[in-house]
Amino acid sequence: MADCENLATCAFFKEYETDEDKKMALQGFVNMYCKGDKQNECVRKKVSKALGGPQNVPVNMMPNGMPLAGTSNADWSDAVKNAIR
Ligand code: SF4
Repeated sequence: MADCENLATCAFFKEYETDEDKKMALQGFVNMYCKGDKQNECVRKKVSKALGGPQNVPVNMMPNGMPLAGTSNADWSDAVKNAIR
């Protein structure tokens, strides 16, 4: 399967790829979603489509729609929360 077309620019990975503590978890997501067969289930993609572009997806949202461990979804907008339902 081809890589997700967003991988090079995905804000989630850009933000955390240099974070030593989070690298292992990120790699798991890349293998499962961005380079794997779950890429069409990626919630970041779904929210991006629903809200008009990747700039409207919270950076700390994981591909499964949860906030990255150690971060919060408290500042996610209602529009974002509705889009992931
Ligand atoms: S997190 Fe989702 S949108 Fe971002 S590169 Fe991976 S599959 Fe694509």
